Amino acid sequence: MIVGVPKESFPGERRVALVPLVVPILAKSGIEVLVEKGAGAEAGYPDAAYTEKGAKIVPDRAAVFAQADIITQVLCYGSNDRTGKADIPLLRRNQLLIGFLRPFGSKEIVQEIASTGVASFSVELMPRTTRAQSMDALSSMATVCGYKAVIIGADTLPKLFPMMTTAAGTITPARVLIIGCGVAGLQAIATAKRLGSVVSAYDVRPAVKEQVQSLGGRFVELPIEAKDAQDARGYATAQDEAFYARQRELLGRVIAESDVVITAAVVPGRKSPVLVTAQMVQGMQPGSVVVDLAAERGGNCELTRSEEKINVNGVNVIGWINLASTVPYHASQMYARNLSAFLQLLVKKGQLDVNMQDDIIRETMLTRGGEVVQPRVREFFQLPALVAQS
Ligand code: NAD
Repeated sequence: MIVGVPKESFPGERRVALVPLVVPILAKSGIEVLVEKGAGAEAGYPDAAYTEKGAKIVPDRAAVFAQADIITQVLCYGSNDRTGKADIPLLRRNQLLIGFLRPFGSKEIVQEIASTGVASFSVELMPRTTRAQSMDALSSMATVCGYKAVIIGADTLPKLFPMMTTAAGTITPARVLIIGCGVAGLQAIATAKRLGSVVSAYDVRPAVKEQVQSLGGRFVELPIEAKDAQDARGYATAQDEAFYARQRELLGRVIAESDVVITAAVVPGRKSPVLVTAQMVQGMQPGSVVVDLAAERGGNCELTRSEEKINVNGVNVIGWINLASTVPYHASQMYARNLSAFLQLLVKKGQLDVNMQDDIIRETMLTRGGEVVQPRVREFFQLPALVAQS
């Protein structure tokens, strides 16, 4: 069984799907790794590091697609909407494709992927169960993004983060507010704490209060209650506009007192709720920073411009996307660990074992045999339900 690792082609992408560390682990399951020349270079993994661990290097991208039974990528076509289309003619029927595919993105693109006949697995659809935890790439990347958001905030703020008692006087600590305490938000709280700032955090799901406090953050309690704030899978549910309006009103004061605001509030499959208005940004002190981790999905700040850093009356609003790619060594290592756990589920003793009884395989499978097969995705795009699934 050959697993191929093409070089990532999204502009500026520095991660790689598999790192040398997992090559011997995969070999134990009868999996050989084939890497496009230079695929890991920008993440800090030169070709020689792969060959040392037993992988093969091939000079040309098309050869990786032609020889591999399974293609692993970070950003497949779908999540790579700029250059990903070029991979479509390289995919073939019954080949497997694993990576970020943005399953709820574009119906046309998902159908285009399906039309190649490839059996594609979207890591975004990984169930959030204990058994699937080691394969949860969304959480891995969110961890990296949460960390990096704080580093960017600290680097942009014209103040020190920690309290310092010096001969030149006492420096008061920076005040950091995290809005949205999922995986990224919780990592941001931990990182901001480690850097010595005073951290407050808010989330619509009351269940996270204890998690915030255990990381040393102050949980901001707003006197409003969200209706069924959490769904069965642990995700936030969408609220009505009256709720968001009241939330903005109450959050305004906390935001005005913060030096750095990091927003990481998303509702899966929907545009991100606007929680920080232009008026709130105007109420912040000059030099303050907003780092909007939801920038790619419309942003939690009204002023956010995706991929840009703007300055509004002295307040920096940062909407950079794909932050995980800016920490490519460890982001790739974590992603590769996730994929290698998933591959070990799909390949047993060198043979493919696509067991549709397994919820992890069933839930993540996006396309197969020319069709979009994931029921939630079909429903989302209003495609008629499939009659039977093998
Ligand atoms: P996410 O990226 O979907 O959302 C980020 C956060 O934004 C969530 O905490 C959400 O409640 C919050 N949010 C949404 N709307 C908001 C609003 N209007 N105001 C304030 N906050 C708002 O989150 P995620 O990182 O994917 O995590 C979602 C949940 O899944 C968490 O409870 C997490 O612990 C859980 N999880 C479980 C597993 C597992 O069991 N294997 C793995 C990963 C995550």
